[in-house]
Amino acid sequence: MRKKIAAGNWKMNMLVHEVDQYIHDMTNVNDNAEVIIGAPSIYLQRLLDLKPKGIKIAAQDVSIHDKGAYTGEISAAMLHAMGVDAAIIGHSERRLYHHETDELIGLKVQQCLSNRVIPIYCCGETLAQRQANDQEKVVEEQVLTALSALTAEQMTEVVIAYEPVWAIGTGVTASNDQAEEMHAFIRKCLEKQWNAEVAQSVRILYGGSVNPQNADGLFACPNVDGGLVGGASLKANDFMSIIISAAK
Ligand code: PEP
Repeated sequence: MRKKIAAGNWKMNMLVHEVDQYIHDMTNVNDNAEVIIGAPSIYLQRLLDLKPKGIKIAAQDVSIHDKGAYTGEISAAMLHAMGVDAAIIGHSERRLYHHETDELIGLKVQQCLSNRVIPIYCCGETLAQRQANDQEKVVEEQVLTALSALTAEQMTEVVIAYEPVWAIGTGVTASNDQAEEMHAFIRKCLEKQWNAEVAQSVRILYGGSVNPQNADGLFACPNVDGGLVGGASLKANDFMSIIISAAK
C-alpha cells in the first residue's frame, strides 16, 4: 500500500512573514498522507525552526557536485545535514529556464540518494508533444535517461512527479483518465527497467493545476499517489484541503 503524498511547490513565492503565517495556519495536517513543502532555499532553515507538525521540508533543486567552488549552489549533503527531507529535481521550469537535461537531472537524483534526501523527480511532455501523441515516448525517455543507472533498491527511494508541461500553472488540468493512463504507463516502464516490486512501490504524483476541486478525482485514480501542487499550495487553506484529498 503506497502512502499518498501532498507536496507543495512554492516556487519563488512568499515573503518571510507570509511563511510564518502559512505555517501558523496549517492547523490540521492529516497524517494519513505524507505532506511535503518545497520552499525557496532561503526559507529552509526558517521552516525547520518552525517545526511544522507532520510536514516534511523540501528544497527545489540541488547541485550535481559534492562541494567546492560552485557559487550559488547547494549540495545534497548540506540539505541532509540541516534536516531537509527531500528535493524537487528536474522541474520543467528548471529544464526550460536553466536548460537542465535528463543526464544532469540524473546526477542530481544520485546526489540526493547518496545523501539521504528524497528526490522528487519531475517529468512530463509539452503541449506540442502531447498534440503529436508523443507523451509516452517522451516520458519514457526522460525517466530512463535520468534514472536507469539506479539500482532497484535506490529506485524505490525515488518519488516521480508526472507533470505535463501544458498543465502547469495554466489552469488546464489533465483529466483523471489522462493522468491515470500516463501513471499506469510509467509504472509499466518501471517494471520493464527494474521489476514488479519497484513498479508497485514507487510513488507517482500528478502535477499540473491541482486544486481543491479536482484533487479528489485525480487522487482516486489507482496509479496516482498524490500530487505536486504549485499555485494551490500557496494558500494554507487550499493546501490543507488537498492534503485531505490525499489522505482519503
Ligand atoms: C508545479 O509547479 O509543479 C505545478 C504543478 O504548478 P501548478 O500546480 O501551479 O500547475
